Amino acid sequence: MQFESIKTWLPSINEPLIISGPCGAESLEQLLKTAQQLKEINKVSLFRAGVWKPRTRPNSFEGKGEEALQWLTEVKKQFGFKITVEVANAQHTELALKYGVDVLWIGARTTANPFSVQEIADALKGIDVPVMIKNPIHADLQLWIGAIERIYNSGISKIAAIHRGFHYYGKTKYRNKPFWQIPIELRTLFPDLPIICDSSHISGNKELIPSVSQKALDLGMNGLMIETHYNPDLALSDASQQYTPSQLNQLISKLVLRNQLSEDELITNKLSDFRKIIDEIDDELLNVLKKRMQIIEKIAMHKKEQNISIFQLGRWQEILRTRVQWADKIGVSRQHIEKICILLHEESIRLQNKLMNE
Ligand code: PEP
Ligand code: MN
Repeated sequence: MQFESIKTWLPSINEPLIISGPCGAESLEQLLKTAQQLKEINKVSLFRAGVWKPRTRPNSFEGKGEEALQWLTEVKKQFGFKITVEVANAQHTELALKYGVDVLWIGARTTANPFSVQEIADALKGIDVPVMIKNPIHADLQLWIGAIERIYNSGISKIAAIHRGFHYYGKTKYRNKPFWQIPIELRTLFPDLPIICDSSHISGNKELIPSVSQKALDLGMNGLMIETHYNPDLALSDASQQYTPSQLNQLISKLVLRNQLSEDELITNKLSDFRKIIDEIDDELLNVLKKRMQIIEKIAMHKKEQNISIFQLGRWQEILRTRVQWADKIGVSRQHIEKICILLHEESIRLQNKLMNE
């Protein structure tokens, strides 16, 4: 797949590129008030608003549909904004195009359903409209790529991915856990695919939005999507995470824009000196890992001869307990060491199983 640069289809009036507007289009008044305040800060390149809201539970605000599309044409006329709405099926797509929506976006719940994505892709055949594709609700990179492929195969190369975090069943400070490694993997596989970070849906509250946004920029993402409402307390959906336009302005002024690579030779030389040291340390690490594997081979032979099972709960518990204590002692992150121990243990079991059973 080859994607068009986002600069060609969504030129940015600000660095970084900002997409903003309310979670849902609630009334003409709400849209016009929000759009006017966003126009005043003059940093938003695309105005967003959901007109069909896929809600988790029934009896929530589900959007105003076609009527709201009419309101959005007013926003476009009065303030000159390009507009984007979420589409979840062919009928939404056709209506959005009929009302001159400039960019479509596919929501997380829709990306998770190949039938719906295909239906949208079919409705878009032969139509030159940019499409932004949010990640599916769960951490499945292949399903995200599959949705991108379906839209691409309908002849559209003006595509951006939107990272909005992933559902996580467990304790987390985020509304949707970011699992940054997933958009990094997407970038590695498709270096020219623009990626936008939807800090609002990752955070779920106003407090986390700055750090999530800064991290996204530091990872090289191409822009931010942030929900705004002229009065968030009145919002019919996602009230707790929406900013006022002036809060958005404050956030943008605090973001640090860093360069991909410095042109200054002194700076790059210093960086490559550090990297040489990292190369040496990694070489040492690999040799230590090899030594560890060689002992595991001996353990496997011994267990096989003595008819002892591979997994020993007591030993595993002891490893986890002691290694995090050691981590604390030398001042490295215990979470990091715990993850490494789990990886090492997985590999140890795989190797022992291979040697003892295959
Ligand atoms: C939204 O952008 O308002 C939305 C519904 O987001 P998501 O699809 O990421 O849940
Ligand atoms: Mn929302």
